[in-house]
Amino acid sequence: MSSKSEDKHEFQAEVQQLLDIVINSLYTDKEIFVRELVSNAVDALEKLRHIQLTEKSIADSNLDLEINITTDDAANTITITDYGTGMTREELVENLGTIAHSGSKAFIKELSKSDQKETNIIGQFGVGFYSAFMVSNEVTVYTRSWNEDSEHLCWKSDGKSSYQIETNQGQRRGTKIVIKLKEDQEEFSKAPRIKTILENYSNFVPFDILLNGEKVNTVEAIWMKPKADVSDEKYSEFYKFTAKAFDEPRYRMHFSADVPLMINALLFVPEENPERPGFGQVDPGVSLYCNKVLIDSTPKSLLPDWLRFLKGVIDSEDLPLNISRESMQDSALVQKLNRLIAKRFIKFLDREEKSDAEKFAAFYENFRSFLKEGVITDHENRDALVKLLRFESSSEDAGVYATLDDYVARMREDQDKIFYQIAPERQAIESAPYLEAFKARSIEVLFLYDPIDEYLVGSLPSYADKELVSIAQSGIELEELTTDEQAPDEAQTSALCQWMKDTLGNRVAEVNVSKRLVNSPAAALTPGGSISPQMKQMMRQVDPQFSSSKEVHLEINPRHKLLKSLDSARAEQPDFAKLVAEQIADNALLSAGLLEEGRDMVTRVYEIMQRSLEK
Ligand code: ADP
Ligand code: MG
Repeated sequence: MSSKSEDKHEFQAEVQQLLDIVINSLYTDKEIFVRELVSNAVDALEKLRHIQLTEKSIADSNLDLEINITTDDAANTITITDYGTGMTREELVENLGTIAHSGSKAFIKELSKSDQKETNIIGQFGVGFYSAFMVSNEVTVYTRSWNEDSEHLCWKSDGKSSYQIETNQGQRRGTKIVIKLKEDQEEFSKAPRIKTILENYSNFVPFDILLNGEKVNTVEAIWMKPKADVSDEKYSEFYKFTAKAFDEPRYRMHFSADVPLMINALLFVPEENPERPGFGQVDPGVSLYCNKVLIDSTPKSLLPDWLRFLKGVIDSEDLPLNISRESMQDSALVQKLNRLIAKRFIKFLDREEKSDAEKFAAFYENFRSFLKEGVITDHENRDALVKLLRFESSSEDAGVYATLDDYVARMREDQDKIFYQIAPERQAIESAPYLEAFKARSIEVLFLYDPIDEYLVGSLPSYADKELVSIAQSGIELEELTTDEQAPDEAQTSALCQWMKDTLGNRVAEVNVSKRLVNSPAAALTPGGSISPQMKQMMRQVDPQFSSSKEVHLEINPRHKLLKSLDSARAEQPDFAKLVAEQIADNALLSAGLLEEGRDMVTRVYEIMQRSLEK
């Protein structure tokens, strides 16, 4: 083996893309590269601390777990050194030549979609190690992995298309990154500038950070302190540090308990919902510590999945320090923590709602999909979570929300069901033919607007022993209304129904006289209530034969003038009557979102118009 073997590599295509964006971006907060590199150093030190628990032979075992930063304004460089895990040759290629990391992948995907010029997106993601190339076109990484017989290596790149790795004797365990700054980035070679940046972003780093030999951070586990000793500013600073965030937290919950477990927890709800459409699910954001030592920064089973929007720290001395990520899921202690903290958090939200309803409403607006997901997936906490849900309703103006308890308290005495309708927006519900029957009888209907609501009602058959029923469902019994408009007698109306069923054939399963319709001539109902277009698409994927109109029950309103005229037209102009009957059915299907094919309808409408004008 030669002592200086050179090894040239091309960056993976995605990395080149990312570098191109990073280097050419107009992003002004270039200083985030400091935070990114320090956070990598912290990760490497945390990992080493874990390895120390089980491994005996570790290279340079005398080195302190600390981070050293040196600036040199004569040479225009900044150097960041840690004595963490270091990297092997394979790890260098894997970690600094490809993108495995889901955040960066999502970042690239988002950028390729948007023409909004990259700038603010970078800050929201943090592009990790590659951010060094915002300020440099010569980055050198000296590294040696913790394993005693590992190679002494040097990785070097200009951040364009390739990098090289060579052996370079004399490395200590860990990683030293030397950044030769671009001429116009010389500010980062000045100690006071770097000190300010570190104070902003890295104050809570759990290892000493030394800047040119002087300690700059206050290593502080504020979650272990009594609330009274922590200022709002400190909390907010800690939130930004632990969540890598720039916003202010919406809520914070800080508590400690001794029974049934020793817990110190500090949890934050961010300002923004982290799951924007198209981004998929975020990783859990609450880290698990055991007596101030990090065990896992994104533990999957520590909290129920729907709480993945929370940030912060949970510290329990009862946990074994060397608990592995794999065994966490099975640990009875972790499960206990999970239950306990989820319950505390729901109770916390409930209290917040009572003490500041407006603030809670803003939270709810942004985060309700998580709460609904909780109702669907978290049986343990479902009952408590349901109480936090709120909806617009037919008895209130837009923007006014009712809980299920509000609804139940307002129910008519003879009412034994909770009625709802799902649609993307209020107008869609108000203009469809279903609501009028309930309005006319002063029965309140809840309005559900979210795609997830379909699953929500699916997993919530009843509340307070009252069945939840869609108003588009067939077979709802409502009391007879007395109106001025006389209905034709029963023999006549059932003849009309039979004729319509014969005329429409298989397009509907039944035609019945409606007790509920007031102003509309007809409505299409299904046994299960309304089905959204997304749901229909899903059903068709499962069953290509699926047709939502197979099950349609058409209800007609014999009091309505149109139906009366239709009844007489049946005998006088059968052709025209058939057209009108078909059109009534299509209109009803259309209002219900059940019309699968609109072409026939357009031709038919032209024909109806022409015939009416001919008279
Ligand atoms: P992330 O930290 O989100 O994984 P980065 O781009 O910041 O993404 O880093 C990529 C990977 O490079 C890290 O996951 C880690 O494996 C490796 N790495 C970066 N810096 C160091 C370091 N100082 N010590 C050891 N490994 C490092
Ligand atoms: Mg990183």
